[in-house]
Amino acid sequence: MTNHDPDCEKCEQLLQGYLDRDLSPAEVVTAESHLGGCDYCRRRYRFEESLRVYVRTTAAERMPPGLMEKLAQLRTTDPGPASV
Ligand SMILES: [Zn+2]
Repeated sequence: MTNHDPDCEKCEQLLQGYLDRDLSPAEVVTAESHLGGCDYCRRRYRFEESLRVYVRTTAAERMPPGLMEKLAQLRTTDPGPASV
């Protein structure tokens, strides 16, 4: 069993647009049906979502220099199966 089947890759590509509400209806269906059945991508989605909320609230105040860089690094970090 692997975490990176083609469906997951497709889902990861759709994820940003999904969070931006920027997908076509067909793409939303694809993303949602995959998220419904895939723990890995669902974790990834929650992670990205919380990151966005954090960025939004932080940006509303004042973004310290280097923070965007830090966040960019976080995004490339695998959420990992054991880290909750
Ligand atoms: Zn997946």
